[in-house]
Amino acid sequence: GAAKVVVVGGGFGGATCARFLKGLAPDMAVTLVEANKTYTACPFSNEVIAGLRGIGQQQFGYDGIARAGVTVASVAATAVDPGARTVTLADGGKLSYDRLVVAPGIDFDWAALPGYDEAAAQRMPHAWKAGEQTVLLRRQLEAMADGGLVVISAPATPYRCPPAPYERASLIAHSLKASKPRSKVLVLDAKDSFSQQPLFQKAWSELYPGLIEWVSLSQGGNVISVEPATLTVNTDFDKHKADVANIIPPQKAGGLARLAGVADRTGWCPVEPVAFASTLQPDIHVLGDAALMGAMPKAAFSASAQGQVCAAAIVASLAGQPAPDSRLISTCYNLVAPDYGFSLVGVYRPEKGQLLEVPGAGGASPIDGDAALRAQEARYADDWFRATTAQIFG
Ligand code: FAD
Repeated sequence: GAAKVVVVGGGFGGATCARFLKGLAPDMAVTLVEANKTYTACPFSNEVIAGLRGIGQQQFGYDGIARAGVTVASVAATAVDPGARTVTLADGGKLSYDRLVVAPGIDFDWAALPGYDEAAAQRMPHAWKAGEQTVLLRRQLEAMADGGLVVISAPATPYRCPPAPYERASLIAHSLKASKPRSKVLVLDAKDSFSQQPLFQKAWSELYPGLIEWVSLSQGGNVISVEPATLTVNTDFDKHKADVANIIPPQKAGGLARLAGVADRTGWCPVEPVAFASTLQPDIHVLGDAALMGAMPKAAFSASAQGQVCAAAIVASLAGQPAPDSRLISTCYNLVAPDYGFSLVGVYRPEKGQLLEVPGAGGASPIDGDAALRAQEARYADDWFRATTAQIFG
């Protein structure tokens, strides 16, 4: 009969893969297993935090994917048996598969930061999975008095969306500048440098002088513990008493990856670079943030590109053909104000068992770009989000 492919996780990686599988092979039985009925996208959620858009604009249902012929199971997957090739569902159901794709996104490493657990996240939101946490951080910023201190703690790599803590600092500064100009944003970092740093820092000095302070690892930015009752954030050298504390904790692959046996001791999932088959369980493909994708950043753009390449590779493999030779593109857009954006483009190819960047193929926005260019890139960011979510969920 028709080949059966199960995809677990209906985010940018898994939902793209399911939809492309069905598009490329209409006879294939494709099932998308997703715990939530509504997907809340992280890209542009920093704009929600800054009061620039509503959370509803981040939310997408699965009706379009179902209309495209994918069977959507709105239930969590609770176990995978790679030997029997079955996925167990929280409602007691069981799905068998010829090929399995898992794209469960991230989990937080709650043990990594003393004082920070799921209860603490209600006081000191991470807002690193979009939804209630995004809205909670927005409400806290709205309730904060002028002159307040907003602390953002940024983790060491690897983590979901490398530039997003700095985009967040920028957009929060944008909202404070208008209504609470005596306030301050303090970014405490577990790193000594960050993605697109020169462009961010130039924008901060132009748009938000004195509003954002960035403390690097070697300047004592590493957060070693938090005290949620008093909103205190402790580094090696200092105690910072925040009015709003946004703690972005260390991360690892989503729990299903461990249940399926595809995560290694790093907490992430090693894969080969052509079809993203797990190096631990070769019949299971892993996509998106959960996987170790070489030079490719953990981003929605990346996850969606991987979903397309994986779909093509699975269709080829089931037809007994080699995977197509692929190049993957990822563009990270950053907004520092609604009309001020810049980007970093990377092009990647499988080489030496890894996804490596194609030298000279990508690039960053110019550091000396003018206002018209920044405004144009802000529009491109918006266009990308609308086009990609329409392609996946529309
Ligand atoms: P996810 O999108 O997290 O999807 C995983 C899905 O799997 C979820 O829907 C989850 O419910 C489901 N799931 C997990 N476990 C199970 C289970 N056991 N059973 C059933 N379902 C399960 N990227 C960009 O490219 N551009 C941006 O501008 C951008 N901005 C960002 C801003 C912020 C503040 C943040 C936090 C991230 C941003 N990102 C951006 C990164 C982007 O959100 C992630 O890289 C992307 O969501 C990864 O896709 P994914 O499919 O791997 O995981």
